[in-house]
Amino acid sequence: MSSLDDLYRRVIMDHYQKPRNRGKLEEWEGLVINLNNPTCGDSISLSLKVEDGRVADAKFVGEGCSISMSSASMMTEAVKGKTVEEALELSHLFSELMQGKEIDESIDLGDIEALRGVAKFPARIKCATLAWKALEQGIKTGQS
Ligand code: ZN
Repeated sequence: MSSLDDLYRRVIMDHYQKPRNRGKLEEWEGLVINLNNPTCGDSISLSLKVEDGRVADAKFVGEGCSISMSSASMMTEAVKGKTVEEALELSHLFSELMQGKEIDESIDLGDIEALRGVAKFPARIKCATLAWKALEQGIKTGQS
């Protein structure tokens, strides 16, 4: 195992064990999107507050494997405060990362970078993208 893999693994476990933005918004505060990934048994309930074209708040609760939960934690951390366009752009980048595509090196993905290796394990890609799918669905719902 290379030291980079080791570092990535540590970042993933850190988010899994200490999830950021864990919780739920009240119904009047925002939208709640429930999604699951039956192939692995992951489920996520994402709360999203979209205000003035920005992701004003994002929280999640869920159960599942370390990949799905750490990805949800990283996602909420990454999109909070961003504009809807920026959040969707990041979601698009993440999906490219999961397809194993090379992405612009100058883009700072922060902790999300740690999930890069998941692209090599097709069975786990749905675990990693679950939270992002919930985000996209929430933004779509929030805009209509
Ligand atoms: Zn999973």
